[in-house]
Amino acid sequence: MTDPPAPAAGAGGASNYDPETVRAKYLAERDRRMVPGRTDIADLRSDDRFARYRRDPFTPYADREPRADEVDVVVLGGGIAGILAGAELRRAGVERIRIVDQAGGIGGTWYWNRYPGVMCDVESYIYIPMLEELGYVPSRRYAWGEEILRCLQSIADRFDLTADALFHTGVTRAEWDEESARWVIHTDRGDAVRCRWYVLAPGILTLMKLPAIEGMEEFAGHAFHTARWDYAYTGGGAHEPLTGLAGKRVALVGTGASGIQCLAPLAEAAQHVYVFQRTPSAIGERGNRDTDPAFAAGLAPGWQRARNDNFQAIMLGRPVEVDEVDDGWTHDWAAVHNPPRWEGMTTAEYLRRAEEVDYAIMEAHRRRVDELVADPVKADVLKPYYRYLCKRPCFHDEYLQAFNNGNVTLVDCPAGVERITGRGPVVDGQQYDVDCIVYATGFEPELTPLQRRVGQDVVGRGGITLAEKWAGGAATLFGMTTRGFPNLFVMPAPGQQAVVTVNSTQLAVLGAEFVGRTLRLLRDGGVEVFDVAADAEEAWTQKVVDSFVDASAVLSACTPSRLNNEGRPELMNPRNGSYGRGMGDWFGYRRLLEEWLEDGALEGLELKVRSAAS
Ligand code: NAP
Repeated sequence: MTDPPAPAAGAGGASNYDPETVRAKYLAERDRRMVPGRTDIADLRSDDRFARYRRDPFTPYADREPRADEVDVVVLGGGIAGILAGAELRRAGVERIRIVDQAGGIGGTWYWNRYPGVMCDVESYIYIPMLEELGYVPSRRYAWGEEILRCLQSIADRFDLTADALFHTGVTRAEWDEESARWVIHTDRGDAVRCRWYVLAPGILTLMKLPAIEGMEEFAGHAFHTARWDYAYTGGGAHEPLTGLAGKRVALVGTGASGIQCLAPLAEAAQHVYVFQRTPSAIGERGNRDTDPAFAAGLAPGWQRARNDNFQAIMLGRPVEVDEVDDGWTHDWAAVHNPPRWEGMTTAEYLRRAEEVDYAIMEAHRRRVDELVADPVKADVLKPYYRYLCKRPCFHDEYLQAFNNGNVTLVDCPAGVERITGRGPVVDGQQYDVDCIVYATGFEPELTPLQRRVGQDVVGRGGITLAEKWAGGAATLFGMTTRGFPNLFVMPAPGQQAVVTVNSTQLAVLGAEFVGRTLRLLRDGGVEVFDVAADAEEAWTQKVVDSFVDASAVLSACTPSRLNNEGRPELMNPRNGSYGRGMGDWFGYRRLLEEWLEDGALEGLELKVRSAAS
């Protein structure tokens, strides 16, 4: 932070940059998308007209008797967070651990998302957890979904987490019973499982989003969401041609991370694909490749944590000697979120330089579209006109090229698909006749409150529900415990007073270690019941509120997206922020948790210790 650095490099740089023109263009594009009804969704939970979209196409449902027994811990969710929590609980010596999940097996995101082309968008060496424990190095830089799922299954097997799990089971109500000091977990399969400790690990982007488009239930063809890919209809598999689509016309609705990954396989197999694009994604180079055996052989003990720390440091703008991951996240994302600063810089200068850096990166993305898409009219529609920080970026090496195929039509619909008839989607009054609609329309946002993500009433002391307690925003200690809900742990997630990171699995690693080690301390101390002390919760919540940065001035100029509360950033609640400014102080948060665990005094918790007689 000393001398002013040279203007932003890259395509366009700052040389041909006229801020007023760029801002006007970005605002005009934003306004085309800020339309009434933009965020309307079909509520898949309560609207039975859409119940079939929820059904699990991967594992047959089986009848079973309701369970009315007792375990030590119930973990809600068998995704990465739940598996890691289970593993750490096992390490802490807990015997009876029961995962409960609506899916037919372990894996969460990677159980459900099996669409062709699915892969992680953060480098697999840091994304897939516990690689060192597994003694495994992923086969590619960005692993396919099935390899990730296999790794998660291996962790679950190693820590024996599936034998006693209840799959295809949704928790409907969890109630704290003061007298017995147990949680009672009720499910949609008639179970009433008692447990001393309850861990909520519902995941982050887990509620499938189906836009409420007029007439969609009248469509006479076949339709499904990417998170329930129907291979019985499309034929093929994740890496096998979708032979069932031969001669078929397919509508692909949505061009976010899921849509861009499945276009190429669809285009290869179908007679025709119509891509309905509301907002073009910024699509950077992926640069996927097989793992170099020399790289795998050279990994020293502790390498995964060190590599992730290197990634996190770069993402937070800290100096490092080497960029180990060296991809679009560490180049573009990190540059945009950490613009140059120098001694004596004014806020106006800072904002201006941030805008320049962002502009240069977006220009490079727009130029990439020109390089890869032959038809200039299509290319123009595919160019993203908003700041890079407005949406989670995408990376792909085949998506843009797919528009050069004669059987792929791009339908520009900034206000969304207008209507769906029995024959297919309608945009600008034009009917598109299709046999199948694939909804790549994503998930309810990261900041969806925990009480909605858990999909159940969590009833704590005095009959208060979590939804009631958090109606005005989150209230926690460390983003993982909340007063009035004894013996309850919540895995950290955005909007919950923990920290946020692009690589969510690392946050789950942190949360799982906290849960496992805290439980060990509680058990070692003979603690039967813990609750959060009122002053500790207030202090933590105040810390979060105090470090909240109101970025609504910048974010309101953004195209609507999950990251700016769909164009209403001013409604973001400071209580639902992070520990530390912005996305949070990752390293500070981890250090604080580690010191708290090392100290072992369980400060901030009220404890009821087992009496000698009990
Ligand atoms: P998404 O990024 O939210 O994309 C949903 C798409 O559907 C967007 O293009 C959206 O347009 C469009 N859409 C929504 N309603 C529409 C309507 N009524 N008419 C037309 N289009 C409509 O969802 P996603 O692709 O599933 O990704 C969600 C997140 O999951 C990602 O950001 C990422 O964090 C994660 N993810 C990761 C991977 C991976 O590679 N690891 C893969 C998939 C997902 P707008 O852009 O205008 O909203």
